Amino acid sequence: MPEIEAPLAILAELTHRCPLQCPYCSNPLELERARQELETDEWLRILDEAAALGVLQVHFSGGEPMARRDLEALVAHAAAVGLYTNLITSGVMLDDRRAAALAAAGLDHVQISFQDVDDAEGDRIAGYKDAQRQKREAARRVRGAGLPLTVNAVVHRQNLARLAEMIELAVELDAARIEVAHVQYYGWALRNRAALLPSRAQLDAATAIVEEARERLRGRLVIDYVVPDYHAALPKACMGGWGRRFLNVTPSGHVLPCHAAETLPGFDFPSVREASLAAIWRSSDAFNRFRGTSWMQEPCRNCERREIDWGGCRCQAFALTGDINATDPVCGKVADRTILEAAVRESAAPPPPLIYRRIGGEQPVRPATVVPTAG
Ligand code: SF4
Ligand code: SF4
Repeated sequence: MPEIEAPLAILAELTHRCPLQCPYCSNPLELERARQELETDEWLRILDEAAALGVLQVHFSGGEPMARRDLEALVAHAAAVGLYTNLITSGVMLDDRRAAALAAAGLDHVQISFQDVDDAEGDRIAGYKDAQRQKREAARRVRGAGLPLTVNAVVHRQNLARLAEMIELAVELDAARIEVAHVQYYGWALRNRAALLPSRAQLDAATAIVEEARERLRGRLVIDYVVPDYHAALPKACMGGWGRRFLNVTPSGHVLPCHAAETLPGFDFPSVREASLAAIWRSSDAFNRFRGTSWMQEPCRNCERREIDWGGCRCQAFALTGDINATDPVCGKVADRTILEAAVRESAAPPPPLIYRRIGGEQPVRPATVVPTAG
């Protein structure tokens, strides 16, 4: 068991409410209702406890964190206790007044997600009319308020053809950074995998675009690039390893090692309503279950990479194999890798209609459009 260091960051999921309905949303299929959400004073206490524990960063997320009217108060408190504050937002609720208020509260950084660069396609994926235009406006307000901006470009087989233009959009919006993030297949995205998973040729074309843009825009725009596990050669150290660097607080106050952890059976994730953040981080079964390497089975147990990738993602291992202790199927050392290969083959068929993310369950579907890509 490695020494338990303080977490680097806390992901504060303030709410699952969101006006958008992205079919790849990382929120769980069972979304929490507004009446279950933590109160303002509970979040203030969590921020105090996080700072005391040694956390350095708080990422305000959701759902749409701007749906909380107390967001500015939470940002101000986080800044006052010395936390670096980042807002992860869709942007559609960010008007002039709130942009100014958030800057005055001490917000350090804003990330705005873009579903596409094409307005009609972006609105279709978001399931929200006029989303794209409002996002561009929000980005300009962020820069107008003097805040640094990152564009989160979530990419998949239905928008990869426009990746180069998405990078240009980030430049036009005066972003310092763009995160080109291929959809990761948990929750709603796993439900929509066949409609979203790109082919190897699409991925290779996207990688070439990113590499060219990185060279051309050096010193002007930082480009982060997250590839889909299904085409990766090796598993990733999910969240930097279970219970090693991050903790996630859900809208109702459950504390998780990652945002998808509630999909795992046999866990009773503790709540900040019953225990302190420090006690949960250091002593709870939920956080200790997959710390270190003693829980591993072969081939991870004797693998030279076991303290590099920590056996890969637990949620993905369970979702694809039904065994929470299994090696992540991304790993080429296990026969389960064929599960991913079969999924890639399936996604070569025309995409099925999207299933949109909504509180209250799955909703009627809309047809997919796929624009041919290079390669
Ligand atoms: S991914 Fe889309 S639906 Fe999910 S919280 Fe973000 S903007 Fe809302
Ligand atoms: S066997 Fe386990 S530790 Fe080794 S590379 Fe595969 S997932 Fe990582």
